[in-house]
Amino acid sequence: MKTIVIASNNAHKAEEIATALAFPGWEFRTLRELGLDSDPAEDADSFEGNARIKAQAARAASGGKAVLADDSGLAVDALDGAPGVYSARYAGEDAADADNNAKLLEALADVPDEERTGRFVCTLVFIDEDGAETVAHGTVEGRIGREERGAHGFGYDPLFLPDVFDDGRTLAEALPEEKNAVSHRGNALRELRAKLEK
Ligand code: IMP
Repeated sequence: MKTIVIASNNAHKAEEIATALAFPGWEFRTLRELGLDSDPAEDADSFEGNARIKAQAARAASGGKAVLADDSGLAVDALDGAPGVYSARYAGEDAADADNNAKLLEALADVPDEERTGRFVCTLVFIDEDGAETVAHGTVEGRIGREERGAHGFGYDPLFLPDVFDDGRTLAEALPEEKNAVSHRGNALRELRAKLEK
């Protein structure tokens, strides 16, 4: 069995990753599950840069196991791409999802519906045991709603209305498999899987 270390302690991300990359003989473990500690400063100015920082730190912490890091966030057009790489800490260093969502609603309070466009972005950096790196990207286009709706998912999901949903649901109102089928992380994982299968 090949163990892939997921360079994140976000249980939602870990679940979405393990489901999409269910190769026979592969098992995914979070840092916490392996009793490892890795919390590097994510101080790059791009998703790919931050994903690489997390992947390399987790690789070092695990003594050279295969690792997969995800860096992701929400880019809102009316806010010039914010919160972007700062999505996790938009409302402050230890902000909860509810704080970030409240700050986003406040920032967009005067923005009309047709200008509330944006996208989730995900970059994955996979480093295999031999050090070979594979990078994959994914996005999902949508709009920012005016109220939180739905109980699935995490982060900004209750505010995000994907364009591909024609029934006005938020990502948090979608079942996990429906989210995976359209999401930035799902799309990045499908690209990564295709690259690794080659
Ligand atoms: P990271 O863990 O540093 O990559 O921060 C990612 C942040 O972006 C999360 O804390 C969320 O705020 C947001 N985010 C990323 N992916 C998703 C998602 O699938 N749904 C909702 N919010 C997300």
